[in-house]
Amino acid sequence: MNYHKKGAWNAICPVCEFEKKSTDFKRRWDGQMVCSECWEPRHPQEQVRGKPDDVSIPWSHPEPSSDTEQDTSGWAGESGSYPAGTFDSNNGTL
Ligand SMILES: [Zn+2]
Repeated sequence: MNYHKKGAWNAICPVCEFEKKSTDFKRRWDGQMVCSECWEPRHPQEQVRGKPDDVSIPWSHPEPSSDTEQDTSGWAGESGSYPAGTFDSNNGTL
């Protein structure tokens, strides 16, 4: 009988630990009262998933094909970018 007539009070969501209005809470499938942002339908297998906006990944696939190709073309491009002339003949002399 101690409730305010307004019907809303502050409660802390056990998931995100933010203080929210009681009207923002829903009972989850496991019986826990969580805020509407943390509420989710029953997906037992997805409970262990990480945050969706976590872009840092432990590893990623390398791109071997394009890397190798760029390496080869870069080597060819380097010698090709030199103006043909004195340097070339100097090399030949040495
Ligand atoms: Zn929450």
